[in-house]
This record gives sequence, C-alpha cells and structure tokens, in this order.
Amino acid sequence: MANPSLLILAGDGIGPEVMAEVTRIIDWYGAKRGMAFDVSEDLVGGAAYDAHGTPLHDDTMARAQEVDAVLLGAVGGPKYDALDFSVKPERGLLRLRKEMDLYANLRPAQCFDALADFSSLKKDVVAGLDIMIVRELTSGVYFGEPRGIIEEGNERVGINTQRYTESEIDRVARSAFELAMRRGNKLCSMEKANVMESGILWREVVTRVGADYPEVELSHMYADAGAMQLTRWPKQFDVIVTDNLFGDLLSDLAAMLTGSLGMLPSASLGAPMANGRPKALYEPVHGSAPDIAGQGKANPIACILSFAMALRYSFDAGGEADRLERAVEQVLADGKRTADLLGEEGVEPVTTSQMGDAVLAALDASL
Ligand code: NAD
Repeated sequence: MANPSLLILAGDGIGPEVMAEVTRIIDWYGAKRGMAFDVSEDLVGGAAYDAHGTPLHDDTMARAQEVDAVLLGAVGGPKYDALDFSVKPERGLLRLRKEMDLYANLRPAQCFDALADFSSLKKDVVAGLDIMIVRELTSGVYFGEPRGIIEEGNERVGINTQRYTESEIDRVARSAFELAMRRGNKLCSMEKANVMESGILWREVVTRVGADYPEVELSHMYADAGAMQLTRWPKQFDVIVTDNLFGDLLSDLAAMLTGSLGMLPSASLGAPMANGRPKALYEPVHGSAPDIAGQGKANPIACILSFAMALRYSFDAGGEADRLERAVEQVLADGKRTADLLGEEGVEPVTTSQMGDAVLAALDASL
C-alpha cells in the first residue's frame, strides 16, 4: 500500500523555521516508528506570490486536493502589505480552506502543567485544562448574502447576513459529536437562540443530530454565557461546537487561557475522501511573526502539535499523537523555553532548533 501523503506549505516569516523542526519529527517517525510519509513541499502566501505572482498556484491547489493532509506554516508579512487584496498572502490560505471545503475548525485549548503560571487566570482554573472548540468555518455571517455598504437616505448602512442551512449545521455537528466520542463524551453547543433565528435552527439541528449519538451528553448554552463560563471555570467543558463568528471569538478566548501563541495548533477538516480520511489542513494558530523571523527565536511547538493533530485525525495514529504530545510536555517540564515562554528569572531561552532537538530527544527516550 502507498505511504500516506503530506503536502508541506511552509509559507513566510517564521513558517519555514518552525516547519523545519516538524520535518525532522516526520523523518523520526519514518526511521523509528516505521511510519513513512510521502512528503512533498510547495509554496504558499508571499513566497508563492514572489515566485508565481499569485499566493497559491493552481498546481499547488490541485495537489492539496489529492494529498491525505496539508501542513501549513504561516503566511504574510510587511513586504506584502501594499499588495492588492486579491493577491495578498492570506488569500492563498483562504483559497485552500474554501476549495477544500474545510468546514470544521478544531481549536484545542490545552494547558501544559509546566506553563500553568503563564495564564492570566489563576493556576487552579487552568492547570490540566484540555478542551476542544469546533468552529464552523465555511458559512455564517462572514459569507452570508446580502452584504456590503449601501446608501440609505442620507447615510450609509453596513450589512452582513448570518445564514445557515440545515445541512451546514448538520455536518459540523456530526464532526463535533464524533470528536466528543473520541474524548470525554460531552458536547456543549453555543448559539444565541434567544435573539437569532439562525440560533434557533442551530439548536434544533444539533439536538436532532444528537439522537444519533446517545453516548454523548449534549448541552446548549447561549454564546455570551459561554464566554463567561469559559473564563470562570473552563474545565466544565470537553468539546464545544459553535458557528463561525462565535467560534472565532470563543476559540481565541479559550486559547489565551493557556498562554502563548507559539503553543497553539489547529486542524481544519472537511468531508471524507474516497479513502475515508477527511480533507484536512493542519496549521499553527500564529502568523508569520515578522518581528522575530530569521532569528532562531520562534517557538516550533504550535507547528509540532499541529502535526500531532494530523497523526490523530488523518492517520489514525492516536497513540503516536499522544507520544508526541507527551514529548512536548516532557521538554517543558524539563524547563526548556523558547523566548516567548520566558517568565522565570535566570532561565536562558533555547533556539527554535534546540527546541526541536529537545523534542526529538524526548521522542527517543519514549521508545
Ligand atoms: P503573529 O501571530 O505573526 O505574531 C504576534 C506576536 O506573537 C508577535 O510578537 C510574534 O513574534 C509572536 N509569535 C507568534 N508566533 C510565535 C512563535 N511561534 N514563537 C514565538 N513568538 C511568536 O501575528 P501578527 O504579528 O498580527 O501578524 C504577522 C503577519 O502574519 C501578518 O502578515 C498577518 O497577516 C499574518 N498572519 C498569518 C496567519 C496565518 O498564516 N494563519 C495568522 C495570523 C496572522
């Protein structure tokens, strides 16, 4: 049988630096765990614009549709700020998400014990936190029509439309229930059914889908109350499913409970392909961090944990994903810190590649 295929799009800024560490980890899995991947690399974002005049070449798009998973670094940077909107680096990423129809965005918020002091919340509120927010990514108010700024009388009106079809809610709800079954069997759905018709429909459809997952304990919460509960006692949640707009806000809020941007992975999943694997794009939450690019300061852990998500959700290798996450946990417990994680006095930061070395050593020690 052919090896599973991975397309690496390292992108701009610190993207190539953090991805270099992931590539070493992919090689480790080939050499030490007999898990060889067919890895190809290509350009996205500003790097693709420089080479082809477009932030995502059609051939790259076609390749992304064929592979088992895409791993992306980050796109963008000041060099491209003045470009026309249609060729900005971010358009490459948006095109990937849109054409692969990646409707379920998985954003874990996990607090490693060694970093519990990093949170702005009290240590006992976040220590051991492990929750997952599933955000609908392809519909809702960011895409609904009509939209625009129109003239009305003697003033202008800004318009956006929140719009969800039953099938759009159904498919993201199913992703969230499936995920809940792999975790703690608890799902909380968040909307504003008290003031929005789209919220009423959302609640109805999620409840209906829930009948197919009797093992999962389903609850509903208004999204504003959800935001309060997330900061009050986040450990009450396991999986949360919500729409595009609320998910955008709540996933950022939840992520920041745990500390640095350099630690946050994500997955965006679509419909199953012929081989049963979902269409999938894995990427760190952070951007291209131009302020530290090229200095060996970037924290590669968000990108490494994104590959762990790929092992779990694309390659049915949950045990190996656990191994990689434990290796990261070990390295942090040993006191290794990139500059973004420095808090304690007298701790010398490690470089991007030293952090990669430490994770590889912890992986070796796990055998
Ligand atoms: P950013 O995430 O790139 O950086 C924000 C801050 O966090 C910076 O101080 C940066 O140094 C720090 N940081 C981020 N990742 C880090 C890491 N791995 N290790 C250590 N420190 C890290 O966000 P920004 O500065 O608002 O945006 C910079 C560029 O990235 C812009 O062009 C923006 O459009 C783009 N961007 C891209 C993505 C993406 O590719 N998904 C996401 C957000 C922003």
